[in-house]
Amino acid sequence: MLYDFIIIGGGPTGASAGTFLARKGYKALILEKEIFPRQHVGESLLPFCYPLFEELGVLDEMKKRFVRKPGARFSNHDGTSSSTWCFKNIIHDDSYLSFHVVRADFDKMLLDNAVKNGAEKREGCKVEKVDLNGPNGTVIVDAIQDETRHTFQARFLIDASGQDTFLAKRSGDKNAYQDLDRIAFLTHWKGAKYTQGIDVGLLQIVYLEAHKSGWFGIQPVGKDRLSVGLVVNRKYLKEQKEKFKRSGNEDDWQKQFYLQEVRECSLTREILAHAEIAQPLIAVSDYSYFAEKTFGSNFVMLGDAGKFLDPIFASGVYLGINSSKMFANALDLLFKEGQEEGMKAMIATKKHIDGAYNLVEKFVNIFYDPESFNLATLSSVSESNYSGYETAFSLVHYLLAGDFFNNYERYSDFLDMLKNPKQFARWKNLVVNKPNLHEKTCGHNYETIFGEIDDELVESTSINGNVRA
Ligand SMILES: Cc1cc2nc3c(=O)[nH]c(=O)nc-3n(C[C@H](O)[C@H](O)[C@H](O)COP(=O)(O)OP(=O)(O)OC[C@H]3O[C@@H](n4cnc5c(N)ncnc54)[C@H](O)[C@@H]3O)c2cc1C
Repeated sequence: MLYDFIIIGGGPTGASAGTFLARKGYKALILEKEIFPRQHVGESLLPFCYPLFEELGVLDEMKKRFVRKPGARFSNHDGTSSSTWCFKNIIHDDSYLSFHVVRADFDKMLLDNAVKNGAEKREGCKVEKVDLNGPNGTVIVDAIQDETRHTFQARFLIDASGQDTFLAKRSGDKNAYQDLDRIAFLTHWKGAKYTQGIDVGLLQIVYLEAHKSGWFGIQPVGKDRLSVGLVVNRKYLKEQKEKFKRSGNEDDWQKQFYLQEVRECSLTREILAHAEIAQPLIAVSDYSYFAEKTFGSNFVMLGDAGKFLDPIFASGVYLGINSSKMFANALDLLFKEGQEEGMKAMIATKKHIDGAYNLVEKFVNIFYDPESFNLATLSSVSESNYSGYETAFSLVHYLLAGDFFNNYERYSDFLDMLKNPKQFARWKNLVVNKPNLHEKTCGHNYETIFGEIDDELVESTSINGNVRA
């Protein structure tokens, strides 16, 4: 059978591409190498995803499954300063209350939803080879399922293979961002103390000491399931690996390293004092990167398959799903109007998506620049009525909420403006330098954040370890 689209990967990007295209009447086949549910990093979602969940038809289910997220708090490593950024300050409808998700459950929900909407899926089916020069411009895909080789044919290929970067790797077009060379470790904990904003749903980002050039990202993903991710630069990790080697602790050194960092940070030390690790440690070392050529007449790379940026601003899922939606519209035009109109639409869509990614990249670079502003030391509350700078203050909220696609040029200019020390000092004095006004929460109680979760629906992923901090 000739499919319209073959999609490699059933993560959020591939599953939503499948939904959007099947809804337009196309025959879409999603090939996913894992059997879902499978665990994954990337659990804190931005408010700008909310309308997409509504459009995909999963919003009500999300409310029953996942913890709500009203904002983010940034703290220094020793806990001496922090700032809380509440999405309700700038979003005045229900979408300000976003989600923290268990990805095993979230990804399965999206993939099942694609099937509900008419896409076909094969799980446990690993794509091994792709020929973009099939007969009449088609694509031939070879995959292995149950140790059997299957061959599929489609008019168009969507590579949504995430960090596997199926096409980019094979074409030698995977390029690293040298400045963003970091490594992440993540696991879930049971028995953590839900205090300091975790009880009220805040994503917590804790800056580590300067030489580690990294952070902890802490988010409640269940009533008794706390996700704690650690990001450090490669140089520091290398030194630590050597240290563990010298002391004869080479086996399991990654877990020992992760636990060491948990003990060294005052916030994690406190909240995890009596907690236990509840799933295997995940290590992600392959980031950040981009491919130069992300689309052609019969293929496109979407989501992490084409570009991945450091996850400090929890942008990946939103970038992936929204790119799928935008490209589904361009591909519809390609199929209906032909190559010329289709390519024009794809070029325009790609330009728009690149604008969003470039904005996130600029924001990420500012985060890691020790000379630049530190979100933990800014207050997110302002009394100033100096309107120009007040607007600028709102823009940081918008960026944290995920407004990457609408006004990226304007926001980008704003971030450039803040790089100028004089302008930044002026902005800080006029707008954000109000230490006595630091909020501690976004004004929600436990019930709002955890109250709607239906315990019966929440699938329990594996418990492994029982390691104490
Ligand atoms: C440490 C860390 C923390 C993060 N935190 C956040 C966060 O808080 N919020 C956020 O939004 N994002 C976060 N991200 C980013 C987020 O994880 C990704 O951007 C997101 O998962 C991208 O979705 P995707 O569908 O493009 O790729 P994936 O979710 O990786 O899905 C790709 C799928 O393709 C399948 N696949 C791969 N190769 C093949 C093949 N050959 N054949 C068949 N199937 C294949 C894989 O099994 C996988 O299921 C984080 C990332 C890291 C590393």
